[in-house]
Amino acid sequence: MNPDLDLNGSTRVREIEAKTLVSRVPRSNDGSWYRTDYNMNVYRGCQHRCIYCNSRSACYRIDRFDDEIVVKKNAVALLEDELRRKRNKGIVGTGSMSDPYMPLEGCRQLTRQCLAVIARYGFGVHIHTKSDLVVRDLDLLTKIRRISGHAVVAVTLTTGDDNLAAKVEPFAPSPSRRLAALKTLAASGIETWVTLMPVLPFIEDNQPNLLGLVHAAADAGVFGVFPFPGMTLRDRQRAYYYEHLAQLFPGFRELYARTYGSSYICRSPDADRLMESVRSACRAAGMKTRPIPEPRDCAKGEQLSLL
Ligand code: SF4
Repeated sequence: MNPDLDLNGSTRVREIEAKTLVSRVPRSNDGSWYRTDYNMNVYRGCQHRCIYCNSRSACYRIDRFDDEIVVKKNAVALLEDELRRKRNKGIVGTGSMSDPYMPLEGCRQLTRQCLAVIARYGFGVHIHTKSDLVVRDLDLLTKIRRISGHAVVAVTLTTGDDNLAAKVEPFAPSPSRRLAALKTLAASGIETWVTLMPVLPFIEDNQPNLLGLVHAAADAGVFGVFPFPGMTLRDRQRAYYYEHLAQLFPGFRELYARTYGSSYICRSPDADRLMESVRSACRAAGMKTRPIPEPRDCAKGEQLSLL
């Protein structure tokens, strides 16, 4: 499949010349839960089209999230220029608003070229993805780790069930492929994390699912887990999610509306017990946990998108 062609009959690719690429992560924003100093996205929109994706929220102003992928074609030159000017080295995060390893990256290789720049300037990197394509860049991640001491890959897993994942994350690689990628990265000495978020209430928030993921992560040699037993919902993101709930899980749209009303933070009704089980299973398996701070609404202040 040519990843430049649409995946679902309606996505188009548009190239732009961006003005800037790298933004500073505000210190006040403990969106730095994964300890980044800078943030960048080389694409806007995401081919994975997870039904719950927070990047659809109106405050991010990505109006055509589901039918257009914007490619920042000058991303590599911008990054080179911006890193060259920085007085202090730091960690560059990517993957907060779109997946840097969506299928398009297979041929465009913008993320790969950016990693080469990050290595050249001695910065660290923290990648957030749902794709096993990240393994392609193991050579550069190893180089960045050697030079800066910091190359971290966090892979999101919300379910261990490939069939369920095909419903809620329809164009992302399966959880099995993601776990295989984690295993390869960990075996090569890259610090790997599992982002256990979102955990969709009434669909994924059960002990067998979450503990199964923790055990699979431990078997893959994962260093740690970022857990959050719930999700966030607002404005047009909520509308998109509810539309898909109605199609995929009859009756759940009404259940969500009854349970959460217009709340932004939608924690699993069983969140406390699940959190404790995940923490204790991670401890027993020798993995770290770093809880994701309570999400803040971007309409009320800046935050990184939580995937
Ligand atoms: S949640 Fe992540 S992988 Fe899924 S559509 Fe959004 S940005 Fe892409």
